[in-house]
Amino acid sequence: MTFEELGLSDEILAAVAALGYEKPTPIQAQAIPLVLEGRDVVGAAQTGTGKTAAFTLPLLQRIGHGSGKPLALVITPTRELAAQIDGVATAVSRHTGQRVAAVVGGVKYGPQVKRVSDGIDMLVATPGRLIDLVDRGDVDLSQVRVLVLDEADRMLDMGFWPSVRRILGFLPTKRQNLLFSATISPEITQIVARMLHEPAFVEIARKGTTAEGIEQAIMPVEQSQKPDLLAALIEARGADRVLVFTKTKARADLVRTILDRKGLSVAVMHADRTQQQRDKALARFAEGKVDVLVATDIIARGIDISEIDHVVNYDVPENPEDYVHRIGRTGRAGASGYALTFVGPDEITQLREIEYLLGKVLPVHDLEGFPYREGRIIPFEGRPAKRPKRAAFGAKVRSGRIARR
Ligand code: AMP
Repeated sequence: MTFEELGLSDEILAAVAALGYEKPTPIQAQAIPLVLEGRDVVGAAQTGTGKTAAFTLPLLQRIGHGSGKPLALVITPTRELAAQIDGVATAVSRHTGQRVAAVVGGVKYGPQVKRVSDGIDMLVATPGRLIDLVDRGDVDLSQVRVLVLDEADRMLDMGFWPSVRRILGFLPTKRQNLLFSATISPEITQIVARMLHEPAFVEIARKGTTAEGIEQAIMPVEQSQKPDLLAALIEARGADRVLVFTKTKARADLVRTILDRKGLSVAVMHADRTQQQRDKALARFAEGKVDVLVATDIIARGIDISEIDHVVNYDVPENPEDYVHRIGRTGRAGASGYALTFVGPDEITQLREIEYLLGKVLPVHDLEGFPYREGRIIPFEGRPAKRPKRAAFGAKVRSGRIARR
């Protein structure tokens, strides 16, 4: 599949070349023709899949030039995402002559207002600032023909939904709607049903595509040494925004206790905690009041916290797709991050399944100076990722070698 085959105009194709994209990513190949047709689209895709260009390119082609009031509106939860979308749109606008602006919170109003009042075709905004500008009469959304809700799940999680609903009230009812979300929860499904018109669904099969900028490695260790290794790792790396996943609630509580004892500030989230406790844990972590958040997989799917720099899989996830979800919590919006997975001798088969899904073998990383027990099993590096046979213990042992130290 090439960009030429998707129905994009010559101007947009020139912009694509300037952006350095050679061929469309799967979500681009699927979504671009649908958006060009004028369909409502739901895209289930995470950051790192190319979703920004998947909506920005065709929507700019569709709207053309207006009289100065925005014809397209993209609502996105964070300033970083707004900047990323603005970046792609601005690159395209150099070739199409369209006018693009981003309005986000935390910066002065003046330059944003001037930009908007000079006349724009596409507006990228975070919800709070957009409402302010509409209320002040600086932005008129009555001409919007295409609406994009980017990272809808994150906007829900961050409590932006009431604001988004207010914004929808400023828009013409007849319009094209595009909704992107990493996860399609029941809440999102309801929103889609209420807001979108006969939407096409585009789902990026969870192939093991993980966001760029994440450094992944495995850390082979015996089960009994996992607690000490975690504490030593956090200390060695500086305990700043570490998200630790365990396979059970009991292990999450255990890890909390261990880290507490080492004097680290820790919060824990799992299904036995009340919603209020979970919200509190998350808020404290998001605000930087605790350094480490320990969680089971329930939170990996929905909630997103920016600026996590380390994800540690204390246990290898049983379901390989959970690995992708878990490490998707780091390295968002172009940031870099580390995803380290502790692999016990009994977890090598699970590891191979993940590597098969990812299509690559994960490198081994040892923590320097850590007193690893003699005879631990280190999975072979560099062997082709092949679908492993779920089975015999013997197979697991054979897929590793005994480290002689
Ligand atoms: P996104 O999922 O929109 O956050 O995009 C992730 C990254 O992929 C960004 O750094 C884009 O510049 C890059 N990207 C998007 N589309 C393509 C493409 N077709 N070819 C190569 N890189 C791309």
